[in-house]
Amino acid sequence: MSTAIEPAPAVPRVAPRAQSSSRLAHGAFWIMARRVTVVAAGVDIAFLALFLMLDSPVLAWLNLASVAMYVGAYGLLKRRINRLALLLIWAEVLGHAAIGSILVGWDSGFHYYLLMFIPAIVVSGRARSSVLLVLLLLSFYLGLHAASRMVGVLTPLSATGLLVVHSFNVAIVFAMAAYTARFYYGTVRRAERKLIELTTQDPLTGLSNRRNLLAVAETAMAHARRTKEPIALILADIDHFKQINDQHGHAVGDQALEHCGGLLSRLCRTLDVVARWGGEEFLLLLPTTGVDAATGLAERIRETVATTGVDHAGLRIGFTLSLGVTVLRAGESLSAAIARADQALYQSKANGRDRVTVVD
Ligand code: GH3
Ligand code: MG
Ligand code: MG
Repeated sequence: MSTAIEPAPAVPRVAPRAQSSSRLAHGAFWIMARRVTVVAAGVDIAFLALFLMLDSPVLAWLNLASVAMYVGAYGLLKRRINRLALLLIWAEVLGHAAIGSILVGWDSGFHYYLLMFIPAIVVSGRARSSVLLVLLLLSFYLGLHAASRMVGVLTPLSATGLLVVHSFNVAIVFAMAAYTARFYYGTVRRAERKLIELTTQDPLTGLSNRRNLLAVAETAMAHARRTKEPIALILADIDHFKQINDQHGHAVGDQALEHCGGLLSRLCRTLDVVARWGGEEFLLLLPTTGVDAATGLAERIRETVATTGVDHAGLRIGFTLSLGVTVLRAGESLSAAIARADQALYQSKANGRDRVTVVD
């Protein structure tokens, strides 16, 4: 038994990066559809054995047909013939619910599987077609109920047999409802994590982006006002970076940026915010850090960058950093403190680069 409907296609005219969360849900949907066919085939094999034990060969062979349909759907999904696979899954679930309810009676509980289509339809369809499909499903459900009441039970099971089949069906629907809820929750969580990453990180270096630093700085500054603890800023800029690009190519420039980002992350504490502030410029926000500790860190960063480099075509390409250090003053805005760090950085450049300047 299964719950599957095709998800809405990705909305056109959206930038490729912005589509990644919808693509995530789209891909996840087909993974779930494939898993469901395996589980459903297993369930139908169990039913086949159960009906043979309950001495209902007609029902047993009907389950064999269901297993064959799920095997077919699995094969189609593997070959990405998705629409036909979904059609087969729909046909199996509707057919199984109808035949089961008419042959064994409404109390067998085969109709419960129809309910599993509701979350699949609502999550994956467009609003208007979802409403229509849910209404169609409701009509089918109520129609089947009326029909089974009118026709009666064609191949009755013993009272115990009916209880066993009913309990089995209810237990499976409970398990499937829990699994699909968990699955959709997991998909939403993954999409959410991806979205947070896209809005807070610089894609090249994995460092904070400017927006994230500004957001975190507000919280850090509010905390510092309460605790009267200092906050230091370090602004760092790669020296003659244009030359690296010009001499070795843009890809090596990117490699240098990644290398620099990695070093900065390793040398800072988890409490610190390390952001890519501009092209080859990095801003470090250091809570609970005074001017001496910040200057010491800036010097360690300078030295580490100057003594390492990136390897390209058998060559070690070295480069240096110029840094400016300052500490936030009481009641001062972040932008005023950043302007001061920028002045300090400018002095480092003017004095020959590969150095640290402090403007206290
Ligand atoms: P200075 O020592 O005065 O800082 O000189 P500079 O060459 O480092 O500075 P300039 O501002 O003249 O050049 C910075 C260069 O950084 C220009 C730009 O093309 C390059 N750049 C900016 N972002 C990226 C990037 O993401 N990747 C690469 N490879 N280069 C970048
Ligand atoms: Mg530079
Ligand atoms: Mg620059």
